Amino acid sequence: MKTVVIASGKGGTGKTTLTALLAHRAALEGTVVVADADVEAANLPIALRAESTSCEEFAGGATAVVDPALCVACCMCARACRFDAILWPDETSFAQTYRVDPLVCEGCGLCAELCPSDAITMVPSIAGRACVGTAATGPIAFGELQPAQDLSGKLVTAVRERGDALADEHEADWILVDGPPGIGCPVIASVSGADVLVAVTEPSLSGEHDLRRLSELARQFSLLVKVVLNKADLSERGADAIRHLCKQEQIELIATIPFDPAMAAISVQLADGDDSAATLPLGSEAAEAVDIIWREIASALAPTGDPAGENDQDIAILY
Ligand code: SF4
Ligand code: SF4
Repeated sequence: MKTVVIASGKGGTGKTTLTALLAHRAALEGTVVVADADVEAANLPIALRAESTSCEEFAGGATAVVDPALCVACCMCARACRFDAILWPDETSFAQTYRVDPLVCEGCGLCAELCPSDAITMVPSIAGRACVGTAATGPIAFGELQPAQDLSGKLVTAVRERGDALADEHEADWILVDGPPGIGCPVIASVSGADVLVAVTEPSLSGEHDLRRLSELARQFSLLVKVVLNKADLSERGADAIRHLCKQEQIELIATIPFDPAMAAISVQLADGDDSAATLPLGSEAAEAVDIIWREIASALAPTGDPAGENDQDIAILY
């Protein structure tokens, strides 16, 4: 079983669309489990028409809650909160006592300690959910982080653990992980135990910058990196810069995908939550690029002496 993480330094590079298309491609050759580790924008379940079979709530920190019946309006909490999370009584609203803005509260507990009338309780909050289910390509694990929660690294780990368990249960050949954007804690959690990192980038200054950071991260974890340059024809200069960077960083550029309106349309559909037609026309340049990417990944991870691709037949891609 091999684990492939598809990542990008930022959002909007087509990472999730590519992950969905690769999952379809992989499913033609074996059993694939997908894991959506992009828990702050979990679009892969939409792309793969997933239905959850079970979800577990994921505990976060705590949020302060004021009991208006006990509050004597002494103002100590509002003066002490360094995050300005306590809302003062407001003549323009119906609120007659102090309240806590749950989206701003950091859960430090200071206000509850100070309150002279024990009017404040720290209530455990739910940071999100970790789910498993069935997708168009087979088993799927995914997470959903609640707004204003910052425990995405831990939730990513929970999603990865569920993905690994599904892979064991189904004796999967592949785990495809849709990684979170950036290079922070969630990305580090997503690449744990991976066999290859597929870095999706685009021909822009930010794409170049993000790819460099992703390459540095991969080096720290001794991860094999394969680069995919998406929307390659949007900037010749930007594409040349990415090629140069790959040589400099000694990472392999395995495919360039031209800007394909069909692929862009899929991205827009997914962003809108529309999973009705996540397909690529057979024979399009983007469809062929996806096939090449899959073969390169499979070949790179094939056991020595059994190079993947040697015995591959031409398989029609049916997305
Ligand atoms: S410290 Fe307690 S009593 Fe004082 S304003 Fe805040 S909630 Fe009310
Ligand atoms: S728990 Fe901390 S952050 Fe939240 S309202 Fe109280 S003092 Fe402010």
